[in-house]
Formats: sequence, structure tokens, C-alpha cells
Amino acid sequence: MKVAKFGGSSVANAEQLRKVANIIQADKERKVIVVSAPGKRFSDDVKVTDLLIGLGEVYLKNEPYQKQLEVILDRFREITTELNISEKIIEEIRSGIENIFGSDNSPELKMDALKATGEDSLAKVLSAYLQSLGLNAIYLNPKAAGILVSDTPGNAQILEESYDHLYKLHDREEIVVIPGFFGYSKDGKLITFSRGGSDITGSIVAAGVKASLYENFTDVDSVYCVNPMIVKNPKEITSLTYKEMRELSYAGFSVFHDEALIPAFKADIPVCIKNTNNPQAMGTIIVSKKEPQPNPVVGIASDTGFISIYVSKYLMNRELGFGRKLLTILEDEEISFEHTPTGIDDISVIIRESRLTKEKEERVIARIKEELDPDTVTVERDLALIMVVGEGMDSGIGLADKATHAFAHANVSIKMMNQGSSEVSMMFGIKADKVKECVRELYKIFFESE
Ligand code: ASP
Repeated sequence: MKVAKFGGSSVANAEQLRKVANIIQADKERKVIVVSAPGKRFSDDVKVTDLLIGLGEVYLKNEPYQKQLEVILDRFREITTELNISEKIIEEIRSGIENIFGSDNSPELKMDALKATGEDSLAKVLSAYLQSLGLNAIYLNPKAAGILVSDTPGNAQILEESYDHLYKLHDREEIVVIPGFFGYSKDGKLITFSRGGSDITGSIVAAGVKASLYENFTDVDSVYCVNPMIVKNPKEITSLTYKEMRELSYAGFSVFHDEALIPAFKADIPVCIKNTNNPQAMGTIIVSKKEPQPNPVVGIASDTGFISIYVSKYLMNRELGFGRKLLTILEDEEISFEHTPTGIDDISVIIRESRLTKEKEERVIARIKEELDPDTVTVERDLALIMVVGEGMDSGIGLADKATHAFAHANVSIKMMNQGSSEVSMMFGIKADKVKECVRELYKIFFESE
């Protein structure tokens, strides 16, 4: 049994849904289908999920929302009309949304229910379409499938018992279409995963049914070894380990949601990234172990929007609890940190800029000065992290040398380096405005000189 998940661009309009139906029909093992909400049809289009969030915001401000509602219904109507499916679904979406607004749930829960309407409605549309083609398909709500999650709106975490519930899908004769992106708390509240969370549903379902393969259909032929917006026609990656994918998606590879790796990884289900627009292409397979490769580097990822808080104090290494106290200050402000490179008398804490508001920054700096009595505290903004990723890099020889040469060729000074804490990556911190040059040089050195 295979689980196939189709992302937003794969279900953006009727034409895409026809491709989806062909893909489902092409392989009898594709028995469980997970779908996103319709995504962008063209580059400056708006995803249905974003339209729903917009609608929710207008509603919560007590402003008239009919216009926003009609835009969403039109998106679905365009699909049902072209696919010749009953318009009844559109009225069901309308009354579903009115019911959410009319409920006495908290604004947070209303927003989650509203966001989930995109995937829920699309799953209904797709199952109706598959039926119209003569296939034995049904829509299955995540509650009926047994997807139980934590009561944390917008950030659902799966509860273990869900996996046993999902295993029962084996007994189903039909092709089951499940909407991605949400589950239910034990007391029946609809809770969504974080954004992009249909990948997470797909992975959970694949782990639950112990699928032979989790196919994640998107709009690229494979995962590329570097961002194609930075390097033209980069090499495709044919296979990756879960660890490598985790490191790459951490630093900007957005093909697959990083939280989605966990269920597949734990259950050892291979994940295949495939293209709805070119299903013949091999795709990229993500597995727990792969054969050693001649080039230990599989990819280069980069991400911007980092801040470094640098603290120095003479004899810091001897001061018991210095690091703990520093991190406690961040914890009190609910700021998670990314990395903490250290020296004898210095420590830097790297944080995502989005987590450190101006007010938080002022409070954090004031507390560091007061409680840690440092010699210096400075904040550096506009940093980028570049990760050179590959299993087996820790035992390779001369890789750091190659990497630093690339930075020298780009004429860029490295602000921070980290190799050794991770077996699968080397990390470099630089000024964000230089990131493209560096990635290009790294690509040349690791992939073009092979
Ligand atoms: N539709 C949701 C989002 O845009 C979830 C997903 O597409 O995976 O975040």
C-alpha cells in the first residue's frame, strides 16, 4: 500500500486534478490519498489557505466578509464546474464556514477550523471526481481516520494512538481521500498542524498504515542539490537520507516540511518526492541508509534572517553556569535558539530574526548586562547560514578546506563556522547580502569540479 500526498500546486485547478486522477489510476497500490488545499495557479496567485486566513481576519474584526467568502467559493466553483461535479459541494462549503462563524468557539479555534476548510473541501471535491470517473473512492475525515493531536491550535502534535487507528485503513476496499493539515484533539476540537502541514498528515498516515512508500507529489522533478534560483540547472539528488533531508530543509529547502520527516523516519517508510506535472521522472527518494557516494556532499542550503547575540567575558570558561544563565534569559522570553558557537571567553547565540522582536531584544540585552556582568554584548543582524550537507562528511578529508576556499573565491569573510557537532553538515555564518556568491562558489567546488 502506498500513500500519495498531493501538494497545493498539484490541486490548484481542474487541469491539475485531472493529472492527480491519472496518477492515482496508474498504480493500484495508491490506496490512500492525502491532499492540500488549492495552491497558486500562477506566480502571483493567492493560496486558498491564505484566502481563508484573510477571510478569518476580516470576520474577527467584525467587518463584512461576503466578498472574501465569494472569492473562496469561486475558486472551488471553477474546479467543480470544469470537472462536472455537483455544485452541492459549494453550498456545503458556504454553510460549513457560516457554522464556524456561528459557533461559540474561541477565535483561535475558529481560525483553525477555517484554515482546514481548504483541504477538507478539496478532499471532498477530489473523491467526488474520482467517483465520477468510476473509481471506488471515498472522502475520509481525519476524525474518522483516527488522527488525534495535541490541543495546540496552529501547531498540532500527533498523539501516538493515532497510528493504531490509522492501521485500520488496511481493511478498506476503497481509495481513501483524506484532507491534510489537521486532526482532532481528544475532546473533538479541530486543530491544524503548522503551515505546510499536509506533508505531516501524509507522513503520519504512511507511518500508520505501514506503507511501502510515501509519495509526496509536488511541482519539481526532484530535490536539487542547491536552490535553482541561485544556480541554474543544478544537479538533481536521486537519494537522500532522512538526516540529510532534515539538515537541508532546516536551511531553506522547502520541498518537504521538516516536521513531516519524523513519522516516516521512525517507521522507516521511504519517502519519494515526485512531480505531478511529470510523474515519469524518477524523483528523489529519502531513506534511512544509502550506499556511500563518491561525493560525500549531497546539497548546499542557505537561509537568511538570522541574528547573533555575542557575549564575551574574561574567564568565562571558568564561570560555572554562565551558558545556562544566558540561555535561561532567552527561555524566559520564549525565544528558541538555533546554534551556540563558543570560544574560551566568548559565546554567540544564533536566533531567527523573526523570534526576536525589538522589545524582546531590549529586555534580553538589559538582563544579560545585569545578570551576567559581561565585558561585551553586541547584536549582529542580517546574517545568513549556509549548510554543506552530506552523510559521511565527518570522515571525509579536505572538505572544510574546499569549503573555505569557496568563500575565499567569493571574497567573503566567514563570521562563524561549525563542523563536528553534526555528522552530516558543516555550517557557515556570513553576512546575508553575500549569500548567493558563496553558494555559487560552493556549488562549483563541490559539484562542478567532480
Ligand atoms: N494549505 C496549508 C498551507 O498552505 C497546508 C499545506 O498546504 O500543506 O499551509
